[in-house]
Parts: sequence; C-alpha cells; structure tokens
Amino acid sequence: MIWDKEKECMAIDDMKELQLDRLQYIVKYAYEKVPYYHEKYTEMEIYPEDIETLEDINKLPFTTKTEMRAAYPFGLFAVPQKEIIELHTSSGTTGKPTVSGYTKEDLDLWSEVMARGLTMANVDENDIIQNTHGYGLFTGGFGVHYGGQKIGASVIPISTGQTLRQIEIMKDFKTSVLIFTPSYGLHIAEELERLGITSEDLNLKSIGFGSEAWTDEMRNELEKSFKVPAYNIYGLTEVMGPGIAMECGVQNGLHIFEDHFYPEIINPKTLDVLPEGETGELVLTTLTRVGMPLIRFRTRDVTSIHHEICDCGRTLMKMSKITGRTDDMLKIRGVSVFPSQIEKVLLNIEGVKPHYQIIITRPGIFDEIEIKVEASPEIFFDNVKQLVNMKNKIAKSIHDEIGLRVNVTLVEPMTIKRVESGKAVRVIDKRESKDKK
Ligand code: ZN
Repeated sequence: MIWDKEKECMAIDDMKELQLDRLQYIVKYAYEKVPYYHEKYTEMEIYPEDIETLEDINKLPFTTKTEMRAAYPFGLFAVPQKEIIELHTSSGTTGKPTVSGYTKEDLDLWSEVMARGLTMANVDENDIIQNTHGYGLFTGGFGVHYGGQKIGASVIPISTGQTLRQIEIMKDFKTSVLIFTPSYGLHIAEELERLGITSEDLNLKSIGFGSEAWTDEMRNELEKSFKVPAYNIYGLTEVMGPGIAMECGVQNGLHIFEDHFYPEIINPKTLDVLPEGETGELVLTTLTRVGMPLIRFRTRDVTSIHHEICDCGRTLMKMSKITGRTDDMLKIRGVSVFPSQIEKVLLNIEGVKPHYQIIITRPGIFDEIEIKVEASPEIFFDNVKQLVNMKNKIAKSIHDEIGLRVNVTLVEPMTIKRVESGKAVRVIDKRESKDKK
C-alpha cells in the first residue's frame, strides 16, 4: 500500500519542478513574514528572486540551533501567535530549548506525512497502535498519534513507562503495531521474556521505532525479540517531528518526504554541499510549513542521500540510517568516534547483550575508554578463562573498528540501568568539558 501514490511515486523531474516552485514560494514567504530571515537576507544582499533554480538554494545561509535559541520563544513564527494551535519544544539539555509552532495547516501536513510513513510500516485502518512515545513537549508521541488517526487505525496513547501495564494492554487490546525508542523496546522485550510471554501470546504485526541512533544489529535484536519487522521513523522537533522520512518494506534506507522537506548533505566543516551518495550532515528546508518555515536548517544528523528505483515502487529520495549526530561524535585521544561504531561491534559478538555503556575518563594525560557491557548468564557460569577470552575478543574487535585500545568490563545481566522512558544514556564522559574537543 502507498498512501499518496501521486506524490510518493512522482517522476524525479516532476518532483524537482514541484520543489523549485515550493522553494521559491517559501523563501519569499519567510523573507516577507519572518524578521529573522528578512534581516539576514537583506544584510547578505540575497533576495527571493535570486532563487531561479534548485541549486540556487546554495546562496542562502544556514539556520542553526543556536540561532533558533536566540529567537526563543516565538521569533521564527511567520504568523500571528493566535494562528498557532500547537507548540512543542526540543528537550533543551543545554540552555533554552528550540520551539516549534504549528498552524492548523501544519498539523494537517504532519498527519499526512506520518500517515504515509505508517503505511510504509504496513499499518492500515484495522490496526491497533500502542504508542509508547511520550506525549508532551516531545513531538514523538503526537506525530505518531496524528498519523495513526489519519489512517483510521485505533491509537492507544499510553505514552512511555509502566511496562507491566503496557504488556497487559498489549495482550488485552490485541495491539498489532508497537511504537517505541529502541532502548525502551529492549526493556519491554526483557520484561516479556521474564514473564514468559512469547510472540504467540501477542498479536503484533509490525514495529515503528525512532528518536534514538541505532544500528542494524540493534534492529536485528528487536526483530528477534518481537518476531515482527521493525521500521525506522525519522524526524526532529525543529523541522516538524517524526514524519520527515520513514523506512519502507525494503528496510534499506528511509524515503524522505521531499515534496515537503527538501534535503541536502553538507560537509559540516567546509559547509560545502556534497554530491548524492556522500556522507555528511543533513540539512532540511521546509517547503510547505506555514507557522514556522525553516530554511536550510542544520540537523547535525550524519547520513547520506540518493535516488534509486526502490522495490516498493516509491521514487522519493532515500537517506541511509543516521549513523550519529555531529554533536554525539566523541573526540578520544584525537580520534573521532561515534557511539554507534561501538554498538555495532558489541552486538555482533555472541554472548553479549544489547545493554552497554561507554565511559570516558582522563586519569592522567591520556583518555581512557571503558566499555561496560552485559554478558549472558552462561558466560558467568563458565570458567574464568572464558571470561577473559570474551573480554579480549571484545577489546580486539573494538580496536579494529575505531583504532583505539579500550578496557572491557563484563557485567551480569540487568546490571546496567534500564530506561523506563525515552532515550538510554550510553555515553558517560567524565572528562572536564574543556578537554573534550
Ligand atoms: Zn522503498
């Protein structure tokens, strides 16, 4: 099933024409309605009529999170506040959060793109969606909610936490679609196992997961536990929320809803736009958003984009899964390391559980990395020699991947704290902040 065949299967040239029309419109709209863009463009002597081709987007400056924070709370809105009918913010771990405002049209668009996405995950009006994403200022919960309702499915807005209750409802309501963050999904799976509940006792047919970086190994783990396919949902609060891109049945890359969100990949250091297929930072422009148009927003997410004829029939550009955020990148002994590289290695080793922490310290002059990871109970029943072998194997595999020596600590199952809500804390950086870069 394809939700909007006309848009999702459009010929590439037609899509480009549509994008150019919309880009010209939104740049003019932002310039006229939002003082932030007006001042910035005027200062740089760039005007809406300078956008004659799609490539001309290059002439426009980027919008960063820092600038959004400076415009806090409503400085980027293009409409009077009375026309905004919903507000969300990013989590705001450092300083003020970024704010996202939606008009009636924006919520319709959000529902529409999420309906497209959930349809890719095989959801239809007969489904019962248990949405464990948080409802609140975080956009995860509402995005799935609106999309699910648009399709006509029954949405259970259970939100996150209370895992035993989640499981009871999964059984009693015959939940067919489960939505979670990978780390919360792992927690539900563990509880199901503990209670002796198997997939045969449930009615699941698919899973949608998002809002955390993930690896193929993590997805395999989730699919093995729930015995149904799991599809990645991508989005971010500033641009809209979930529903910017989603995986289709092929499960090899996410289709970007590029008729509404124009993607570019840039080199985060030189800021040059990179050609199709190269990896860099994703930059998005909202082509149709009314309340808060964002032009060339730097997402900090690292990925690549390309066109292909997908087996699902869609022509929408595909992006590879996010390998990390430029913010997540760790500098350890001068080497750039993404936590996802370590996760990939760990989950490929037999006997290792998908629960781990990366602890970075600087006891002397040099950085030290400790990988604390849970091993299956059998490992601890075996002799010490096998434990040592296991530790060495993990250390060697990580060294091969990132080029750095690490200390491995194997811990017993359930030792590492589980998340009852949202995202897991995988990295604990104990170095003084001035030393981290
Ligand atoms: Zn596809």
